[in-house]
Amino acid sequence: MSASTAEEGGGEVFIVGTGPGDPELLTLRAARLITHADVVLYDNLVSADVLALLPETAERIYVGKRRNKHALEQNDINQLMVELAHKGRKVLRLKGGDPFIFGRGGEELEYLAASGVTYHMVPGITAAVGVSAYAGIPLTHRHLAQSCTFVTGHLQDGSMNLDWPMLARPRQTVVVYMGLPGLPELCAKLIEHGRDPGTPIAIIQEGTTPRQRIVEGTLATLPERAAAQELHGPTLIIVGEVVALGAKLAGLREPLNDSAPDV
Ligand code: SAH
Repeated sequence: MSASTAEEGGGEVFIVGTGPGDPELLTLRAARLITHADVVLYDNLVSADVLALLPETAERIYVGKRRNKHALEQNDINQLMVELAHKGRKVLRLKGGDPFIFGRGGEELEYLAASGVTYHMVPGITAAVGVSAYAGIPLTHRHLAQSCTFVTGHLQDGSMNLDWPMLARPRQTVVVYMGLPGLPELCAKLIEHGRDPGTPIAIIQEGTTPRQRIVEGTLATLPERAAAQELHGPTLIIVGEVVALGAKLAGLREPLNDSAPDV
């Protein structure tokens, strides 16, 4: 998507999704923009392997954020993008995954549009899609899951504010972004609202990267099992019968081994 509005100085902003980590998951458009970048604003979900593709001449500005610790507040990021564009710079705003999935891409575009800056939107592979693929977990399956819901497990006032009766229904996959701190509550609420305690669930840490780790269990067993591991972000949680297929498709779980051959 792109929009042309009143421009000052010819600058423009590209909001670019960079996928979940493996640079081979960049779109061709994102890769082209990154390898020709002028100035880049990025946060900590953008993988080091993606940043390694930037030209040496690119100006890099780190804008945070790690669980509520922002290097810059959202409003400062918005203003900085606009200031740089008004100076005539071509600004790349790099984001992990897809900018429109739990990525505040919408807020940034609204601000840019209101500021009259020319902007472009470059989609990326969201964590749910990339991470599940590398873990061998199909998000939908004719016999096991007729729908798939993406939710944020981000805690508001210390708890998760989700539609539990809907999420607890059988034959669906639930993908939880930012859910690790709330894992015990997630499992307890799903069971309380009727989901089978034996439902398979997986936590995937740093999916699609060589450091990918998977911890699996059931709604009844995973909180304890996860607490015994030293897990850290980013982690994605997948709930549903399809998770059990991932264990069968374990051969897919070595991202480095199935990457495209060098040509
Ligand atoms: N816009 C991003 C999501 C931002 S929210 C996207 O579309 O993917 C940040 C959350 O994404 C993390 O807390 C985690 O739940 C998930 N995530 C992103 N990259 C991940 C990865 N490589 N492995 C596991 N989870 C990831």
